Amino acid sequence: MFIEYATFCERVDSLLHRIDGVCRTVGRDPAEITLLPVTKTHPAAAAEYVLRHGLAAVGENRVQEGIEKRALVPGPLRWELIGHLQSNKARLAATHFDRIQSVDSEKLLTALDRAAAELGKKLPVLLQINAGHDPAKFGAEPAAAPGLLEFALGRPHLQVDGLMTIAPLSPDPAVAQRTFAHLRLIRDGLTARFGVPLRELSMGMTGDLETAVAEGSTLLRIGSALFGPRD
Ligand SMILES: *Cc1c(COP(=O)(O)O)cnc(C)c1O
Repeated sequence: MFIEYATFCERVDSLLHRIDGVCRTVGRDPAEITLLPVTKTHPAAAAEYVLRHGLAAVGENRVQEGIEKRALVPGPLRWELIGHLQSNKARLAATHFDRIQSVDSEKLLTALDRAAAELGKKLPVLLQINAGHDPAKFGAEPAAAPGLLEFALGRPHLQVDGLMTIAPLSPDPAVAQRTFAHLRLIRDGLTARFGVPLRELSMGMTGDLETAVAEGSTLLRIGSALFGPRD
């Protein structure tokens, strides 16, 4: 059985409390940080809870699963794609998602820009950077980030909101800390060089959210701490 709505609310409160605690310690304003519930593998009720609570958006990993769930949860909820996207699904993703966080190649930027043009919309994206040099992760290499951003800024139907990364799985918290600090440095370098704000730093999940907040995250992608384990 899936969790009750009351349980979801308690978990949101507890997460916001943890985020506030880190913000107090490191001197950040909690208002800069958005909690993005990740509903992948969970039933449509998960997204319905998010909507009922008044949170703005959910994250989904797969295009098809997101499309099916979205059809079951009408309303003003925004849907963000956080999982790897192949160019041949760019059109589908651009149609059904409000933002794509996993953009990591010029090929994908080209396909999304073309799709957004046909749909008559400006599509928000984040550039996914493999800031932890993890061979198991998607994302552009840090050295390729300036070229990728320059290419993205030349696509008229895309709007680059910022950067996303996933820390390598490691028992050592220093690994996530280094990864997130690296993403922030990359962002600061790109902002200075290209004169664009790149406001969003999408980094931090259930296992490393405190570290991510301390390193400047603006968008925490949280699944298990809200909805329980995925099997
Ligand atoms: C599943 C997923 C998350 C959420 O992970 P939890 O550890 O359950 O919080 C965050 N980001 C991405 C890209 C994911 O695929």
